[in-house]
Amino acid sequence: MSSQPPHPTVLIPGPIEYDDEVLKAMSHYSEPHTAVPFVKVFGETLTMLRQLFQTTNPNSQPFVINGSGTLGWDQVAANLAERGDDVLVLHTGYFADSFADCFETYGVKATQLKAPIGDRPQLDEVEKALKEKEYKILTVTHTDTSTGVLSEIKALSELVHRVSPNTLVVVDGVCSVACEEIRFDDWGIDVVLTATQKAIGVPAGLSILMASERAIERFRARSTPPPSYYGSWKNWLPVMQNYEAKKPSYFATPSPQLIHALHTSLTQILSRPLEERFRLHKEASQKVKKAVAELGLKQLPTKPENEANGMTAIYLPEGLTPPEILPKLIAKGIIFAGGLHKEIATKYIRFGHMGVSVTDPKRDDLDKAIKALKEGLAEVSQK
Ligand SMILES: *Cc1c(COP(=O)(O)O)cnc(C)c1O
Repeated sequence: MSSQPPHPTVLIPGPIEYDDEVLKAMSHYSEPHTAVPFVKVFGETLTMLRQLFQTTNPNSQPFVINGSGTLGWDQVAANLAERGDDVLVLHTGYFADSFADCFETYGVKATQLKAPIGDRPQLDEVEKALKEKEYKILTVTHTDTSTGVLSEIKALSELVHRVSPNTLVVVDGVCSVACEEIRFDDWGIDVVLTATQKAIGVPAGLSILMASERAIERFRARSTPPPSYYGSWKNWLPVMQNYEAKKPSYFATPSPQLIHALHTSLTQILSRPLEERFRLHKEASQKVKKAVAELGLKQLPTKPENEANGMTAIYLPEGLTPPEILPKLIAKGIIFAGGLHKEIATKYIRFGHMGVSVTDPKRDDLDKAIKALKEGLAEVSQK
């Protein structure tokens, strides 16, 4: 039995449901952020992230900084690009617009390569774009949380290395790290940025980022200082390196309680093979997608290979809007999210299936949610 008070099950694409042990880790007693016990926990957390991202290169660099996933965009824009640089942003939904906006804030010129809703830019289109201009960075959203569209990181990264070898490959993995396969070294990725509250299963509040050796070299070779203070790797790089070497260090106060929770969650995640975790998310996703099809509903992604495994974006029956169905689901103990993509926001809902809702065999969250959706749709169609 969960030690949490009864509450509707949160099945949105983040924040997700949390494990009891993770929540308990957050009520850790106070300790100075420079005290030996906490330095050890922070250091171990950084080392465990290397395993989660599947990097064994000692010169890859993990960062864990108080903030949300959005701070990862600022870190990339402020540390890896310079004013006037060109970057290519692959667009599969809402989050690419925001990443592009973040680049523009720092005077970096973001060109977006857009696909129709439900699709992703094709490799030949990306190749053509890369040949037209010298881009410092290419960004891709692994799972765009507004559309449930999955991008293919491995093939894309191979393409970038072949066609435009100086372009850094940056992956927005906020909705994919810990539920979709990511092989940082093998796939030649330069940055994966993420956050705690999605598949990692820790309350919101930490920006997590892995940078490649090449990305750190690019940062060190900048001709101008990073145009950010809090987000500058000049300030954070020594702190992260010191913590991992179990030496106290300070730039800005970390959140020991959140780090404890992250340490607990990573320990749980890494206690099982990652392949098994990704397989469980695939199976859960197939189950949800099959149930959605059986209800006669369509998904936003237009092809099976475009479908994310941590969430499902579902078109509502013609004429039905999220405010008509979501409260009915809450009454049945299930929280889904409404649409987020501007052009079609009133036409669809989003069902997140990540973390303990998928991996904890004691929970029946997904069955409950599928049943609630079926009953809720039957109720509204009777009117
Ligand atoms: C949630 C999300 C973000 C933003 O993360 P915050 O923690 O809300 O700042 C960025 N990118 C993707 C793909 C996301 O799903």
